[in-house]
Amino acid sequence: MSEIASRRSLIIGIFLAIGVLAVGIASGAWIWLAVPLAIGIIALCNVLQREIISVEVDLARKTDQNETLGEIARTQKSAVDAFADGLEIGIFVCDDRAQIAYANRFAQLLFGFENPLGRSLLAVTLSVELEQLALNASQEASVIETEITFSFPKERICVARAWTTTDLPRRIYLSLVEITDLRRMERIRKDFVANVSHELRTPMTVIRVYAESMIDDDDKKLRAKYLPRIITEIDRLTSITHDLLVLSTSESSPVRKGPCEFGGIIRYTLNLLAPQAKEKNLSLTYEGPEDLDIEANASQMTQVVVNLVENALKYTNEGGVDIHLTDLGEFIRFDVTDTGIGIPDEHLPRLFERFYRVDKARSRAGGGTGLGLSIVKHIVEAHGGSIHVDSAQNRGTTFSIVLPKGDFNSLSVG
Ligand code: ADP
Repeated sequence: MSEIASRRSLIIGIFLAIGVLAVGIASGAWIWLAVPLAIGIIALCNVLQREIISVEVDLARKTDQNETLGEIARTQKSAVDAFADGLEIGIFVCDDRAQIAYANRFAQLLFGFENPLGRSLLAVTLSVELEQLALNASQEASVIETEITFSFPKERICVARAWTTTDLPRRIYLSLVEITDLRRMERIRKDFVANVSHELRTPMTVIRVYAESMIDDDDKKLRAKYLPRIITEIDRLTSITHDLLVLSTSESSPVRKGPCEFGGIIRYTLNLLAPQAKEKNLSLTYEGPEDLDIEANASQMTQVVVNLVENALKYTNEGGVDIHLTDLGEFIRFDVTDTGIGIPDEHLPRLFERFYRVDKARSRAGGGTGLGLSIVKHIVEAHGGSIHVDSAQNRGTTFSIVLPKGDFNSLSVG
């Protein structure tokens, strides 16, 4: 197109020059003027042609440059988008009225919104606090930060930061870092420390009261009455510290697995607890294979089986306890069923929490620490297994465990 234009200007120039020449020759008198005029016109057109070509070359170069710049901008945008979408931080960019201009993937996930662009921050997040933070940030020179609990679509705690730049149009940038798990862990740790202190304080107070009574009174009868109580409380302290140690050991180190004969662990438990069952006049039965090998930590598995069967006997007054072991191929299933007092439904969700007891007085009277089930759950899950409870009040309870068998053959050879 550009080449045609420049050629056209040259051709017009030549025709113009011929015209001038012809008119000059026809008039006769002006020939000496017509020839140089025609030559001048041709030269001028030549210059014009070169000028047009150079302008067009410049234009083409600029078009190329613009296309390259566009390409670079597109590449950079897709790189920034990919980067922002890979972050586990919610990012919003809003205008100065807190209307969303950009939201990365995590921000969309946090609020369950597919396409929040063009909507208001408030409509998408349902958080007046976040909107206020964004609007405040548009007036501030520095980054502002606050902790916000969002309740939609589920409860989440985030650290929200907002800032703006001096560029126009004014934009507000927001980042959201979720700290729900962190806060939950902090709460669990605080509760745990409070619970441990409380559990230790109770027996220590009792011991102190009895000991003080004996200082003031030298009566032998009183001693005979108080000393066994002091010993019971010391036993309780010993059980709590023992269970805490078991829990912390199983939590702090990875499971050391080896060949573990589950049938043998059940036989050991039956022997250990048969006297307890007899004393309460309860039956204690086992149904399942004689030997069943799995890959597990044998001493931790013994702890699991003993805890569950001991609990079943402790919370059963009539009938008895049945133990079942089933080979499921790649897994084993272990059930302990009792005909005991059962557990009311409302307690089931919190049953495996540390120090959680359905009936505090009853548990304490039976020497319970409230740590047994949390130890069991922790060990089972550390072995890649799961635990389930099924209970009906005054009819009984079944605790079921499913565990992967693992590669016990290679372990027994090694
Ligand atoms: P504890 O040392 O108090 O027995 P656990 O952690 O072993 O602590 O058990 C937590 C609570 O769960 C117990 O206090 C008891 O209320 C309830 N529980 C556990 N096993 C049974 C069961 N087989 N039948 C009824 N209640 C049970």
